[in-house]
Amino acid sequence: MNKASLVSRLSKAIGAAYVVHRPEDLVVYERDAFLVGRALPDVVVLPRTTEEVAACVRLARAAGMPIVARGAGTGLNGGSIPIRGGMIVALTRMDRIVEVDAVDRTALVEAGVANAELTSHVAHLGLFFAPDPGSQVASTIGGNIGNNAGGMHCLSYGVTTNHVLACEVVDADGNVFWAGSAATDAPGLDLPGLLCGSEGTIGIVTRAIVRLMRRREAVRTVLAIYRSFDEASRTVSQIVATGILPQAMEMMDEEGVRAVESQYSLGLPADGAAVLLLEVESTASAADRAMNELRAICAAHGAAELRIASNEKERHDLWKARKHFGGALGHLAPSNYVQDGVVPRHQLPAILARIREIGRRHQLRIANVFHAGDGNLHPVILFDPREPGMTEKVVRAGEEILKACVDAGGTVTGEHGVGIEKREYLGWMFDDATLNVMRRLRDRLASRGTMNPDKKLPIGSHEPFSYATAAMLGETST
Ligand SMILES: Cc1cc2nc3c(=O)[nH]c(=O)nc-3n(C[C@H](O)[C@H](O)[C@H](O)COP(=O)(O)OP(=O)(O)OC[C@H]3O[C@@H](n4cnc5c(N)ncnc54)[C@H](O)[C@@H]3O)c2cc1C
Repeated sequence: MNKASLVSRLSKAIGAAYVVHRPEDLVVYERDAFLVGRALPDVVVLPRTTEEVAACVRLARAAGMPIVARGAGTGLNGGSIPIRGGMIVALTRMDRIVEVDAVDRTALVEAGVANAELTSHVAHLGLFFAPDPGSQVASTIGGNIGNNAGGMHCLSYGVTTNHVLACEVVDADGNVFWAGSAATDAPGLDLPGLLCGSEGTIGIVTRAIVRLMRRREAVRTVLAIYRSFDEASRTVSQIVATGILPQAMEMMDEEGVRAVESQYSLGLPADGAAVLLLEVESTASAADRAMNELRAICAAHGAAELRIASNEKERHDLWKARKHFGGALGHLAPSNYVQDGVVPRHQLPAILARIREIGRRHQLRIANVFHAGDGNLHPVILFDPREPGMTEKVVRAGEEILKACVDAGGTVTGEHGVGIEKREYLGWMFDDATLNVMRRLRDRLASRGTMNPDKKLPIGSHEPFSYATAAMLGETST
């Protein structure tokens, strides 16, 4: 089938307005938030129903095209970039919250519902959807499932996989099936577990039944400011050792503090070496008790200042520093490359020293923010892609950082997933026998060439990734 005939058949199936095929319109879909790669699809479809998704998949298969599922395109690993061309199935028109069960605390939602939209929708019931990636205003439930997204409160609530009971899926042949069940303890293989984090390589999630959490009676928040990063890290280890599990334990290094302060003037000290944000949620008395203990641990480990929120506005103000981190970096450099590694918590000071050494050696500026409670770090490399050779240098430095995480006993991703970016790094963590089991499983469910090809698992080459990187180098600006 040629492209004109495919476009005509797709238009009949879902309406011509929802089939994007002109080169100037396709450009919108050439990237996600992985700012060092891009590639054009041949066609993009915006179906409204599961049946329409299935019809599009069948037509793509008949045309021999690879298929890439896309939510909001906020992914940071190039997962929704169509590196082999083909059809992007964008789920953003499937944005209905179909049903909320306030008693059993579940919701049936379409895959294109934005994460924060679901929480707003159920807020009047005292409920919320726990996974809260920094992108939650835009990122979709389908994309959260694709990447098994985490977030700032996932330390105690768990990541997306802990909140998905069942998914409706369109497979690589255009068949529709349900994985999992609304009933707890569903028997059979854990298919929702397999789909969470599969990055669109197995099928397209069209609807999901997700768990909702009940808001706790009280929230207590404290921001601790340190003159030494090591003291802040030791505080984190001590908190974990005492058995207190804050809902959030976020940390920012000196460069991060300076970046936020220079843009938003939040009153953070210019010589602050780290800030630690702690939040507990519980009954009022239990939250107060935990907060008193946390404050004592911070003080005992050298916190120079503690700022405690006494009302919702003050809490919001304390979170500003953390939530404005990404925006602040946008003011400092034309582009940035966000990394996502994990180390055992006690390794935080050592990995920070290593990241600084890598930054110095490559003459790169790197700011760091951490989901400190689970040792998940996000070094952000600031750069200008217009400088010749800069993008390659940045990617090399990112690779060295991740290798250092693995050498320290950690992993190459805490929550952003693998995509094209980290595909080849999986060999640092898994032997061939293990990787082959993963490949066989994927290929039985969707052969390598069909659903999001050459993502998630090693192919033994950086080729498509290098290609995407090279394409970027000719640019004048991002
Ligand atoms: C500012 C910013 C902050 C971020 N903060 C966090 C954070 O705190 N925690 C975190 O985990 N991530 C974070 N991210 C990364 C990203 O937002 C998440 O991975 C998010 O889940 C992606 O959702 P999306 O809808 O944008 O998906 P996309 O980027 O469109 O897709 C992501 C992956 O999922 C697949 N996919 C998309 N929809 C479906 C579907 N319906 N069925 C099957 N596969 C699908 C895609 O093929 C792709 O591989 C952040 C990103 C940004 C830009």
